Amino acid sequence: MLKGLIIAIDGPAGSGKSTSAKLLAQKLGYLYIDTGAMYRAVTYLAIENNALGNDEQIVELARVCDLEMNYKNTKLSVKLNGKDVSSRIRETDVNEQVSDVSKIGALRKLLVEKQRSIAEKSSGVVMEGRDITTVVFPNADVKIFLTANLNERANRRTKEYVEHGSMASVNQIKNNLATRDKIDSSRDDSPLTKANDAIVIDTTSITIEDQVSLILNKAKSAAREKGIELKVY
Ligand code: C5P
Repeated sequence: MLKGLIIAIDGPAGSGKSTSAKLLAQKLGYLYIDTGAMYRAVTYLAIENNALGNDEQIVELARVCDLEMNYKNTKLSVKLNGKDVSSRIRETDVNEQVSDVSKIGALRKLLVEKQRSIAEKSSGVVMEGRDITTVVFPNADVKIFLTANLNERANRRTKEYVEHGSMASVNQIKNNLATRDKIDSSRDDSPLTKANDAIVIDTTSITIEDQVSLILNKAKSAAREKGIELKVY
């Protein structure tokens, strides 16, 4: 049963969510959940099964799939039906389709239930995505909305691609981020939006260490207020 905090982080791609959420989870000994990886895994399944455009089939594929996510030594491993898809779900075809797949209401309902159930079994969680502070855990103990300007976000993503040995131009990445932002923010079901009580952190020109320490301070205050013991490793 959940004894620790729920720390919810939302924001557009490249705003620093994953990096800060991973580091924070590590510092607190909490579970790290990348909900984007779940939508990416289902998108990959839809591509593999020629199911794009067939919402019912996509939801069924998601319902019966075996999705395992493990975070260890700063790496998130994603296994789908026993196969390691950690890198595959970051490729261009998935990037291009994921926001359309994520619009499917019944799929969101299914994944949100999974996300809540994983968190509730943990001893504290840092969960990142687009609708965590608004839909998945509107009563989270700490609610953060990260932003950064589009050029900076595209530069960060390009650097990550190069580090992973993939090829992609900054312009191509920038276009994909802008398109995803637009679809994610304008969809009917749980659009990307800042919750009224979320704390906004613009990460354009601050370091990762500063981002993490800002969120950590919020977590410390929340823990004090709720009488929850917080160990920082
Ligand atoms: O976080 P990441 O960029 O990997 O997410 C990929 C896509 O998954 C987003 O662009 C969005 O369409 C979808 N997503 C979502 N809700 C979440 C997390 C991700 O719709 N909670």
